[in-house]
Amino acid sequence: MKTIIEPFRIKSVEPIRFTTKEERIKILEKAGYNPFLIHADDVLIDLLTDSGTSAMSSLQWAGIMQGDESYAGSKSFFRFEDAIRKITGMKFIIPTHQGRAAEKILFSITGGEGKFIPNNTHFDTTRANIEFSGAEAFDFLNEIGKHPEIRADFKGDMDIEKLEKFIIEKGKENIPMVMITITNNSGGGQPVSLKNIREVKEVCSKYRLPLFIDACRFAENAYFIKMREKGYREKSVLEISQEIFSYADGVTMSAKKDALVNIGGFLAMNDEDLAMKCRNLLIVTEGFPTYGGLAGRDLEAVAQGLEEVVDEHYLQYRIRSVEYLGEKLVNAGVPIIEPPGGHAIYIDAKRFLPEVSSEQFPGQSVTCELYIEGGIRGCEIGSVMFGKYDSDGKLIPPPMELVRLAIPRRVYTQSHIDYVSEVIIEVYKNRNKLKGYEITYQAPMLRHFTAQFKPMS
Ligand SMILES: *Cc1c(COP(=O)(O)O)cnc(C)c1O
Repeated sequence: MKTIIEPFRIKSVEPIRFTTKEERIKILEKAGYNPFLIHADDVLIDLLTDSGTSAMSSLQWAGIMQGDESYAGSKSFFRFEDAIRKITGMKFIIPTHQGRAAEKILFSITGGEGKFIPNNTHFDTTRANIEFSGAEAFDFLNEIGKHPEIRADFKGDMDIEKLEKFIIEKGKENIPMVMITITNNSGGGQPVSLKNIREVKEVCSKYRLPLFIDACRFAENAYFIKMREKGYREKSVLEISQEIFSYADGVTMSAKKDALVNIGGFLAMNDEDLAMKCRNLLIVTEGFPTYGGLAGRDLEAVAQGLEEVVDEHYLQYRIRSVEYLGEKLVNAGVPIIEPPGGHAIYIDAKRFLPEVSSEQFPGQSVTCELYIEGGIRGCEIGSVMFGKYDSDGKLIPPPMELVRLAIPRRVYTQSHIDYVSEVIIEVYKNRNKLKGYEITYQAPMLRHFTAQFKPMS
């Protein structure tokens, strides 16, 4: 088989700024050892997130010029609505400025004290919005998804037995919805099978609970189904996506992922009464229902992006370029979640730094070192992001300590990725020199964005 190439040519380029290791040591110290607080200008290869970092196509930029900026009933809204309806089949489509705005609206209405919301794994903003409403968020990831070293096709699948037990235990009247996140971002970007989605739907139907899909990376998930699940090789990614959403009663999506745009999101559902309530809240918090916190041009770019993202040459290149980085790391012995997910490589910091306990944030340590060694910015997904504390102030760590290297869509070329692998392998070789960290400042919620650290002596 020949090399899978980038299915685009480059028409516009953006220079990246080089720094020395000495400069980066100072920059990181000044940022309180939190890569979120580094100026992007001081980063060489930015793998902090794949969110809003996509390169738009010439047709998306053309759409930006064609955006209809009418306050109400903009032509761009109808194109946006059509594009989403074609894929999801949802009756009511509500634009929001990004994914968390859709979540905020949804859970302000359906959440609240005494409510419980299960998911395969809640993303951090989803969990935060649920908890902010007073409700509680629960994760029921299949056992296999919790073992970074085991290779399996659908490590994002939900544990159906645990889900059903939970519904019986908490009472279906206290569960406003069941959610599934495709792909499972916090659990390694691992896909969910259609078989599992159907089984979750059966449980939902049995207890008359609505199923909502957090659809940020639906196209990547659908491509994995096409490649890995029996019976789907001959189906198009669009058809697979349509089947996924046929089991859903609602959708939340950050368009900053698989709609290939820099800003945008939506909330969609089939329940008219719920849609009315959501639109009323939208008017207070985001804007009129035909723009919802976005400009007409943004709606246009989302509509175009949703057409491009289901292109299978694009998806083949996308999934392969992530897998390519994963292969290089595995061959060098670097512990990562296997197999690689759709949008990111997740370094397993527990196995990378077995000497550093969760209390000393091994993921933060690896993240800082990647920046110092090569100007690469990654993101800790472990005890900094998800750590909780018991009543004695003792850390309750999450099951995994990870460093996420998210690959922006259509942004970096193969040589950038080769460089990234060289830097990671270098850091891995010198891992015995890495130290743990302690927190010197933290905010009460979503602390990873603004926390400050210092290296342990
Ligand atoms: C990014 C993301 C969100 C939140 O979307 P924003 O646009 O960042 O607000 C929700 N769920 C998942 C799975 C995500 O990846």
